[in-house]
Amino acid sequence: MIGKVLVGVRTRRWAALCLGLLTCTTAQTASAADCPGHPDALGTSRTLVVDPRAHPRIGTMQYAETLPLEDHEVVLTFDDGPLPRNSDQVLEILASQCVKATFFIIGRMAQAYPEGVRKVRDAGHTVGTHSQDHPLSMNRMSIERARQEIDDGIASVTAALGDKAALAPFFRIPGLLRADGVEDYLASQGIQTWSADFPADDWRHISSSRVYDLAMQRLEDKGKGILLLHDIQARTVAALPRILHELKARGYRIVHVVPATPDQPATPTEPQQWQLHPPSETVAISHWPKIPNFVFAGTDALPAPSPSDWRDGQLMPSAEPFYRGRRLARGVPLPREAPWPRQTPRPLESAASALPVPAQSIFEIQEKPRPVTQGLAPSSHHAEQAVPAGRETNGLAKLISADASDSRPTIQESLPVTESGLQRVPLGTH
Ligand SMILES: [Zn+2]
Repeated sequence: MIGKVLVGVRTRRWAALCLGLLTCTTAQTASAADCPGHPDALGTSRTLVVDPRAHPRIGTMQYAETLPLEDHEVVLTFDDGPLPRNSDQVLEILASQCVKATFFIIGRMAQAYPEGVRKVRDAGHTVGTHSQDHPLSMNRMSIERARQEIDDGIASVTAALGDKAALAPFFRIPGLLRADGVEDYLASQGIQTWSADFPADDWRHISSSRVYDLAMQRLEDKGKGILLLHDIQARTVAALPRILHELKARGYRIVHVVPATPDQPATPTEPQQWQLHPPSETVAISHWPKIPNFVFAGTDALPAPSPSDWRDGQLMPSAEPFYRGRRLARGVPLPREAPWPRQTPRPLESAASALPVPAQSIFEIQEKPRPVTQGLAPSSHHAEQAVPAGRETNGLAKLISADASDSRPTIQESLPVTESGLQRVPLGTH
């Protein structure tokens, strides 16, 4: 169905171009003609059709390959939704600029807000999945459980869409906590594992201005790539208009990615177009491949890099907020947090202060969360899923981020949940 929608959209786009420009060869500048009522819109410059089986893992934050983008081309991705309050605004902002993106939907969010998933689809965006419960432990859970997370997430999102064909075989591992077995399973299913090329740290408790700064700074460093954002975040909603405006001002172009289908073959590319950028690039995450292909199997103390570790091009000794504790909701155990050990063990004293504090404002995020666990600095890029006890939908816990707001944002990775509800883990080494 996505394919049909896209074909329709693109047909109209081409028709408009042909009529307005007397030529059909200028799709790269489709924005104005493509966005009625918004002549200055950023627009979507082209649709890239990819074959997941030919390129099963993408995103230079973790893999050797990434999307075959040209210089100044950007792919926008949004994780963890839908959360109507914020996700709807993201959709409106993208629509106002005629920008198409890819959304990685969480199964439980789809169950709670199926209409939200359909809104994403109906707006012409690509819908991928992001597991059922967003466990930050896929790097160490059994492959059987990992498969269940993946399969259940797909089933939940498919149910919301009501059409399996509307779902793209794109998957982003929660927290980017990859494991060979997980990737192999995804590949065996013809599903493409999406990392990213750079994040904007919008899951952190930072200002929207900072999100904007990081997005643009990291994009400028790379010159192109996949930007990882979270549509459930109010700060992302606040930063997005400015990001899109600046993208246009600086000459960037938006690329919409869709999966190949029998009716829509993959865009012809050369193998080298999928390769990592030259090492001359300075963006922090370009160093990721140097981390030995994370050997997670068989141990809890495995190295795991995180986008959170990188700030302004520097590896930071951060202790990212870290969701831990058993999440329970009406007797349904939710995934534990992953330890996210770093390559370099850190002093235990910082962990001593990482004591959970009952939060009266369960949706509130600490100002500068730096929880630590097991003497190691955890750092998940978005371990945000927490479930407030007592708020449930269809017998299942309502996903935390469910009521994010500017003043009391959203659940975050730093919010562990217990039977009594969410608890904040304040703390931090800095
Ligand atoms: Zn996520």
